[in-house]
Amino acid sequence: MKQQDMVVVSDLRKNFGELQVVKGIDLNIGAGEFFSLLGPSGCGKTTLLRMIAGFETANSGSITIDGKPMEGVDANERPTNMVFQSYAIFPHLNVEQNVAYGLKKSGLSADAVRGRVDAMLKLVDLEGYHKRPSYALSGGQKQRVALARALIMQPKVLLLDEPLSALDKKLREQMQHELRRLQRTLGITFILVTHDQEEALIMSDRIAVMFDGRIAQIGTPREIYERPVNRHVASFIGVMNFLDGTLKSVSKKGLQIASKTFGSIYLAPEQMPAPLEAGAVTLGVRPEMMSVLYKASDQADYELQGKVVSVDYYGDMSFYTIAVQGSKEHLAVCMRNTVGRHVYDEGDAVRLGWSNASMVVLR
Ligand code: ADP
Ligand code: MG
Repeated sequence: MKQQDMVVVSDLRKNFGELQVVKGIDLNIGAGEFFSLLGPSGCGKTTLLRMIAGFETANSGSITIDGKPMEGVDANERPTNMVFQSYAIFPHLNVEQNVAYGLKKSGLSADAVRGRVDAMLKLVDLEGYHKRPSYALSGGQKQRVALARALIMQPKVLLLDEPLSALDKKLREQMQHELRRLQRTLGITFILVTHDQEEALIMSDRIAVMFDGRIAQIGTPREIYERPVNRHVASFIGVMNFLDGTLKSVSKKGLQIASKTFGSIYLAPEQMPAPLEAGAVTLGVRPEMMSVLYKASDQADYELQGKVVSVDYYGDMSFYTIAVQGSKEHLAVCMRNTVGRHVYDEGDAVRLGWSNASMVVLR
């Protein structure tokens, strides 16, 4: 689906004194898109979001929202609203007063305001909470009030800065689904800042992975996870095993790679997410794409002998660290604990296998 751009960011840069924090960001975020900025703490996500909101001024570059340049436009004049990690709701006001707060100067009649508040509270699943004082709300409920308060202003773009990171795991997972549902229902553009890879994968239409003030990759969750452009992205999003190889040749038919372990192998062109020159490359395989071959008749495209170094048991699955025979290399293997599956212990000799199609070629 070809979407119209809602937010366009061009070569945006920001310094705090000598410190360069945002180092040239380009982004096109579609109308109605759920877009996430994902990266480690300190990489500049919040600063970028605050520049889109108008709370920070860029040193250079431009931001356009819904076709209008934002230079010189105050935060409260922008068609954006922000939800913060800390529940920024007024403690001395009840739920209804908090949600209606931004409409005070709107000139709407009391009836119209009440109607909008009712609709918002229903939307965030707080029907009937109108008179509840702020202090009597749980963390999750406070965050719903903050959401309702932002959405009642009918922004074109909702900016969310780690809105769920203060919640415990179960509640966070529930709110992830609710936020996603809310975004689909309303069709508003959401820009979410998070350092949580799983959260970004679950919620987003597209993700921009950020390191040190720059974007390393933009793509759908599937592209980011299955086709990372480099080792940095690959190991930030989950776990990836890396094997050395040499790229010999690239043609429309495929990639020819030499590997010390397997000799000459061929991969499909799409298994190289970012174009690379011939020479040393890295072959990546996700742990869940590897398995321990139990029966003598079990076969895979590639096989290695190894020994179990450690086992991490997660209930639904186990994570094995395997030392590869004849090398210093360790590989991670993740296997689901299905009924009847053989259980391996530390010290067991094992045969590892994986398929050709599960490999990617990386820098
Ligand atoms: P993130 O949200 O990805 O954790 P931030 O955008 O908050 O990152 O911060 C990026 C960098 O900019 C950090 O090194 C941070 O210390 C610095 N920084 C953020 N805000 C300011 C500020 N107002 N003054 C000086 N440095 C700041
Ligand atoms: Mg931040």
